[in-house]
Amino acid sequence: MEQSIHTLPRVLIDEASIAARLDALAVEITDFYRGKPLTVVAILSGSLLFAADLLRRIPLPLQLECLNVSSYNGLESSGVVHFLDDRLPSLEGRCVLLLDDILDTGLTLDEVRLKLVSEAGLVSMHAAVLLQKRKARAREVCADWVGFEIGDKFVVGYGLDYEGEYRNLPYVGVLEASQVRSRNSGKS
Ligand code: 5GP
Ligand code: MG
Repeated sequence: MEQSIHTLPRVLIDEASIAARLDALAVEITDFYRGKPLTVVAILSGSLLFAADLLRRIPLPLQLECLNVSSYNGLESSGVVHFLDDRLPSLEGRCVLLLDDILDTGLTLDEVRLKLVSEAGLVSMHAAVLLQKRKARAREVCADWVGFEIGDKFVVGYGLDYEGEYRNLPYVGVLEASQVRSRNSGKS
């Protein structure tokens, strides 16, 4: 018999809504960075799909860097941000746009910001997130561009995982209780 884990998560934000929102965000971001030396820093793995779809809508010369960061354990933030790369990108003279999948406690964006701002010669730092949870944050941090505000629920899909799975869903969805395993050992 098929396991309940194989049923698809309930749709929260569908593919067409994501595409329409990315069109609008891309226009704003393109206007903002026109004529500036833009470097996009995508926080992986969660922002992979968001970055790929957003950047294809931004017709500007830009550089792309990726930062491998992990903070989640299953359904909960571990409270510690791990930088998994040996080196940070060189950002001297660059206007940096950070991309992340979701702003939850604010820890990840804040830690990444602090780490990159300590790099010499960075011109500016802004951030865009696909999703932002409506909740009080552990860190006072906000994104300059937000795709969608959502309630304080655990979501998956469109880059976001649960225990390493669901990132390839073309929509953002919510896991049903039957899809959550009893033991949490995932990463984000
Ligand atoms: P924060 O550091 O703001 O608490 O969370 C940022 C990271 O935690 C995100 O980049 C994402 O990887 C992970 N995260 C936060 N909320 C969720 C969620 O609802 N679903 C999933 N899959 N990951 C989340
Ligand atoms: Mg992430």
